[in-house]
Amino acid sequence: MPQRENLLNLTPDRAAEVLRAWMESHGQQAYRARQVLEHLYKQPVKGFAQMTTLPKALREDLDADFEMPGLEVATRQRSTDGTEKFLFRLRDGEAIETVAIPDGDRMILCVSSQAGCALKCAFCATGAMGFARNLEPFEIAGQVRALLMLDERPIKATNIVFMGMGEPLMNWKSVDVALTLLNSPDALGIGARHITVSTVGVLPGIVALGKRPEQFRLAISIHAPTDDLRQRLMPINTKFPLAEVIEAAKVFDRRVTFEYVMLGGVNDGPEHALQLARLAKDCAAFVNLIPLHPGGGQGFTPTPRGEIVDFARELRKAGVEVAIRKSRGMDIAAACGQLRAERVPRRSAEKVGA
Ligand code: SAH
Repeated sequence: MPQRENLLNLTPDRAAEVLRAWMESHGQQAYRARQVLEHLYKQPVKGFAQMTTLPKALREDLDADFEMPGLEVATRQRSTDGTEKFLFRLRDGEAIETVAIPDGDRMILCVSSQAGCALKCAFCATGAMGFARNLEPFEIAGQVRALLMLDERPIKATNIVFMGMGEPLMNWKSVDVALTLLNSPDALGIGARHITVSTVGVLPGIVALGKRPEQFRLAISIHAPTDDLRQRLMPINTKFPLAEVIEAAKVFDRRVTFEYVMLGGVNDGPEHALQLARLAKDCAAFVNLIPLHPGGGQGFTPTPRGEIVDFARELRKAGVEVAIRKSRGMDIAAACGQLRAERVPRRSAEKVGA
């Protein structure tokens, strides 16, 4: 059997083209293509069988040529602060995590771009598990789509941050399409300014993101103000050293955020604040200080709260805009850098003998 085309891996424009051509070759009217499109994201359904605005025979014919695979929720955990963590099981048995963070009237979804991560940042749990594979576009946007279709308490994202598992700019081909799916009014319809791509500083990816006309936001994980120190914390620094990352941030045509995880006695001294301030001012970056969350690499302790506040004050004095990130979902290990999906058995395996 020829492989069915995955409609959820196509941009809305491409899907419309493909569906219109298919309708025409099947003697169907063009408006039927639009009806199918509506059911991909705007009124999402789990399969063609649920597209009840279409005649049954047409649904069956569509199902023979196309697929629209959803992501299967393996577990859902809820924190006392309302944050929820989802573990999705993928078709090949890999697993990824997504975190939903309610914040006032916003609902921030922290999405994964890869199963695992190759970068091995010293303090990060995902880094410790290693790299499995890149996600496809439907697996990235599908995290947002799946939460819209939960039977119980469905979740509608208002903001997206690519701060789950993986390095999004090392999977640009899929992230590029996923950004369109997240943003397009014909798909998930989330404003570009409400979508943030977070990267260790993958230069070609930053350039590619900057070339997109939409105002997607960029956050760069800096974590150390000198190459020496950054190299120790983030091995990728040998490939993309600080000076080049800062240069890329400068030419990026929108305001960039620096992420800086506070590691007790490692990168949190007054001299680091001054060095960081210089870098941030050089490219007019906003600085986000992140309290270290447990569960990452061994050997690090969080900077005490009071010292984070002092560090922020130093930056502010030097003329840098800075915020301290709130820690959310700590009791369910759903905070930054704590995502490390468990390998979940496939359902078929679980059900053997049942
Ligand atoms: N690869 C991308 C996106 C995923 S990580 C990146 O590195 O930016 C999202 C953010 O969480 C990054 O800034 C990362 O450095 C940070 N992070 C990782 N482990 C952490 C931990 N244990 N505590 C706090 N933040 C952490």
